[in-house]
Amino acid sequence: MISLGTFFTFYSKLPESLRNTIKACIPDKVMGNIYVNYKRTIADSNDCLNLPLEQVRIEVSSLCNLRCKHCASGAQYESTNREIMTPAIFKVLLEQLKEIDTLKDAVLYLGGEPLLNNHLPDFISQLHNETSIIHTRFNTNGMLLKEEISRRLLDTDLGIIQVSIDGNSPEESEQIRIGSNYDTVKNNIYNFIKLAEGYDTTINIANTQIAKSEDELLKGKPEVPLFLINDFKAEMIEPNYAMKWPGQSDQSLIDNGFRSITIDAQKDDCIHPLREMTLRSNGDCVLCCYDITGMMVIDNIQNNTVSNIWNSAEYQKIRKAIMNRDINNLPNICKGCRIFTNEKIIRC
Ligand code: SF4
Ligand code: SF4
Repeated sequence: MISLGTFFTFYSKLPESLRNTIKACIPDKVMGNIYVNYKRTIADSNDCLNLPLEQVRIEVSSLCNLRCKHCASGAQYESTNREIMTPAIFKVLLEQLKEIDTLKDAVLYLGGEPLLNNHLPDFISQLHNETSIIHTRFNTNGMLLKEEISRRLLDTDLGIIQVSIDGNSPEESEQIRIGSNYDTVKNNIYNFIKLAEGYDTTINIANTQIAKSEDELLKGKPEVPLFLINDFKAEMIEPNYAMKWPGQSDQSLIDNGFRSITIDAQKDDCIHPLREMTLRSNGDCVLCCYDITGMMVIDNIQNNTVSNIWNSAEYQKIRKAIMNRDINNLPNICKGCRIFTNEKIIRC
């Protein structure tokens, strides 16, 4: 039996196309668990300093045009400052990212609507042209995916756009995603698909469902809803149950007709601070992509560099505590995260 270290050293040297084929054959969760165990081996051997930064998540806009009931941004919109990332802040970030040649992926989304930032296509182009990043993607609610911005995005080498449409029917999606309109989003996706012919950019759909009972949750993943199968290709659609975000208060859940429950199942591991840095629109570096309201700011890229923050003693200490499930040394945000609490949300 080969060690995990040997496996990942071998795997990381394979051509990208072969890596993608292997990845496609192994369910994400299994691949994630193997990877986490490998990283845990590294953490156990006190070598947290040398973990390569592979992915950066950039909140190009913390403003949002919707107020989705299941989202910590939508339901607690006033809980943090809201703004777009300016070209000046992005330039500071870009200069720092140029120095990190282990970076391969960028996600231009955190807790707002990326298409509210008109500079988004320029940011994506600059990441592709001036850093080692080769894969870019972002999530959107799809309401603003009109022809002009679609054409500008297609001219950038952007990899994936993921559009969120939730629930089991257009009506339920609009009830959860306050301010959205199913027909508008559907037509925007159809138009994007037409414009994208001949380009490498793909578009897919994230479908979040709110389970009605604990039994339903225990079945694992929800089925792809019929209304989406009727309107889109099945392989475009990725269904999931809603999770409880760190910082999402019980009161805000109840106000929206939900409640949290703890699922008695094997807990997931957290991989985020082992490979990804999360930057908010004002340059704040927060712990991870679950911190969509900026609960735990570690530093700001105007005071310190991404590289220094990633390798700092503080970040290493947190990383080690997470990897070793060391409850005493975990940041409070992790203690309230579904990774450690195993909380999901269901309807009241
Ligand atoms: S789910 Fe997306 S669109 Fe909805 S409120 Fe949250 S950030 Fe905005
Ligand atoms: S455990 Fe901590 S670092 Fe991991 S996703 Fe949860 S809040 Fe983020």
